[in-house]
Amino acid sequence: MLINKFFHLKKEIKLENKLLSGKEVSLNLAQELSSRISALKNQNITPKLAAIIIGDNPASQIYVNSKAKFFANNKCDSETFKFPSNVSEKDVLNCIEKLNVDDSIHGILVQLPLPKDFNDENILSSISPQKDVDGFHPYNVGKLFSGDPLYIPCTPHGIIKILDYYNIETAGKDCVVIGRSNIVGKPMFALLAQKFERGNATVSMCHSRTKDLKIYTKNADIIISAIGVPNFLNAEMVKDGAVVIDVGINRVEDTSVKKGYRIVGDVDLESMIEKVSFITPVPGGVGPMTIAMLLYNTVFSAESYII
Ligand code: NAP
Repeated sequence: MLINKFFHLKKEIKLENKLLSGKEVSLNLAQELSSRISALKNQNITPKLAAIIIGDNPASQIYVNSKAKFFANNKCDSETFKFPSNVSEKDVLNCIEKLNVDDSIHGILVQLPLPKDFNDENILSSISPQKDVDGFHPYNVGKLFSGDPLYIPCTPHGIIKILDYYNIETAGKDCVVIGRSNIVGKPMFALLAQKFERGNATVSMCHSRTKDLKIYTKNADIIISAIGVPNFLNAEMVKDGAVVIDVGINRVEDTSVKKGYRIVGDVDLESMIEKVSFITPVPGGVGPMTIAMLLYNTVFSAESYII
């Protein structure tokens, strides 16, 4: 079982010195946000998220529940709007329209993926860019790529916060982002390549049509893997001392545990750990940061309501 191997390794090679704990960074960030949340409450403003969920995708349900729990734990509000998968697009757009003008709501998200008959673009672009705390509205995508972001998508922003917390330099580094999704790969590319403090990197974006991925990963100082393939990246593909950020969340069968599966990333941590200088574990790495950055964006939005 990986978990056992994980603890075994921890004793032997001081894993703790190599692991970038997103969990720790997220707790630290929540602590920092708590004074801003208190200041808002003193002005009778409680940051509030509206989460829209369409259909009955169990993973989406889990994500929305954990976001709600994180908000509650940090004394913020959230409300979930659930629709069946056969709801009309018009009904969803009506709901978003109401939330856009509701001053008690500071952030709106639509949990992805949407059922296949839905047009993501129509739904996401109907959210007010000022409440688009996921940062997926074309306005916010454009702002990010032009180097003047308003809301940055939570997962890549959370990764930058991890690099920042552990003081991992990005300027002048060769970075490889594997995966080109709108929610992780592309914004990650934009952040690392910008003239930002934790940016200024030379970034390659790789995907399933990349001819020889190893050429890129072998040369990279920092690798961010967001593809969704268990144990895809192994020690042979990276150079000594690389920093590896594992975004993948993959279920693999495990009959030794009650639920019958466990969660792993894209990276073969066991083969990699001796070679890398730093690596994010799964779970406990990027995942907790995604939720923390959602709170961060919602608090930021709520602050614009202070008169
Ligand atoms: P996605 O939409 O699932 O797309 C996967 C990307 O990986 C695509 O760009 C695809 O290339 C590329 N890819 C797939 N197989 C590949 C291969 N063998 N070699 C190179 N590239 C390959 O991406 P996503 O939504 O960003 O999700 C990726 C993973 O991150 C999933 O496991 C997801 O659960 C996880 N995730 C985690 C968090 C978190 O908070 N930790 C947040 C979001 C997503 P093409 O474009 O050519 O098809």
